Amino acid sequence: MTTDTLTPITTALAINGQRLWDSLMTLAQIGATDKGGVSRLALTDLDRQGRELFVRWTREAGCTIRVDAIGNIFARREGSDAARPAVATGSHIDTQPTGGKFDGNYGVLAGLEVLRTLNDAGVRTVAPLEVCVWTNEEGSRFVPVMMGSGVYAGDFTLETALAAVDRDGISVEHALQAIGFAGSAPAAVADGAPRFGAYFEAHIEQGPVLEDADIPLGVVTGALGQRWYDVTVTGQEAHAGPTPMRLRRDALQAATALMQEVVATAMDEQPDGRGTVGYVQVYPNSRNVIPGKVVFTVDFRHANDEGLSRMDARLRQACAAAQAGGRVQVQVEQTVYYPPAHFAPELVAAVRHGAERAGLPHVDIVSGAGHDAVYVARTAPTSMIFVPCKDGISHNEIEDASPEHLAAGCNVLLHAMLEQAGVAAT
Ligand SMILES: [Zn+2]
Repeated sequence: MTTDTLTPITTALAINGQRLWDSLMTLAQIGATDKGGVSRLALTDLDRQGRELFVRWTREAGCTIRVDAIGNIFARREGSDAARPAVATGSHIDTQPTGGKFDGNYGVLAGLEVLRTLNDAGVRTVAPLEVCVWTNEEGSRFVPVMMGSGVYAGDFTLETALAAVDRDGISVEHALQAIGFAGSAPAAVADGAPRFGAYFEAHIEQGPVLEDADIPLGVVTGALGQRWYDVTVTGQEAHAGPTPMRLRRDALQAATALMQEVVATAMDEQPDGRGTVGYVQVYPNSRNVIPGKVVFTVDFRHANDEGLSRMDARLRQACAAAQAGGRVQVQVEQTVYYPPAHFAPELVAAVRHGAERAGLPHVDIVSGAGHDAVYVARTAPTSMIFVPCKDGISHNEIEDASPEHLAAGCNVLLHAMLEQAGVAAT
């Protein structure tokens, strides 16, 4: 697209890995935990401190700041052609209660490092560049998750998001005002928020695939679709002694058979299917009472929608079969549906080119987790860059990543952004 405007100087350009690491460690001090992690929940005073640090750093890098009505922050570095849509990157800086230093923070600070590198080299791009901080990606304090990017893309309304409350009854609207980040710019593309020309998000993988394959870089081609369910199995509570086996209506026995079916369903959809039962509630949960009711969750993921539909059909079939004998009733309710995301081929290619320029081994990978990029992809060409994280662990205080891998991913981001934004003649 704009590859022809790349000069030899920009091809040789490289980010400062030490400076990137130092920014990560400095931001990680805000909300630092004893075990080496970070606890910086969305829209708390610690989040305010993190946001203000980002704003200070990007202002020092010459950016102008825009804050929208859901608190998303956009730091903008002008290009030579102000009419071109921005080439953007970013992620989130809120964390889980016992989160790590890299999830989200890496994508934001990698964007900052790209801007600093271009400043040092005196490189001006044709399209403007923007680095985004999306509000409440983690969904730990306020639901829905990926709130800022979800409003931006129009998956739910600004009003819905502002009205969400935490466990103490504090609303997003109130919390944004309290930390001084209730901005005036429109939050949703439908309300006039600018669309990007391209969006990249660098992120730790949050899974073990890259480390297992000993490959430093994942070219992310899309994200798994998701279907979540609440399943309720109802039988009859009865005494564990006097009730003979053949006369029981044991909800837990029926439920465990369904749970096995969830895993078997995913095993028949390899390598792209995932099936998880992560929450189980047994009633009355007493050792000498036959369980009368079991509630459990199902989390199905798949790289394509046909696969996800097959999994859905098999779950419903199994639930129908379980109640066919008349011993139990099974109610299955889908609570969440995210279609699989397929990232823009030209941006996936830009990430691949970036890896080639940086001389890095790379592999195509599909994201198993949700990310802000998945929402942004509904409004603009999008792709992601994955770097390995230690033992594939995240959402944990021991989350770790190597400075070399983080720097490598940031170099790929730099070159992918330059390819899309173009370099202005000096
Ligand atoms: Zn994240």
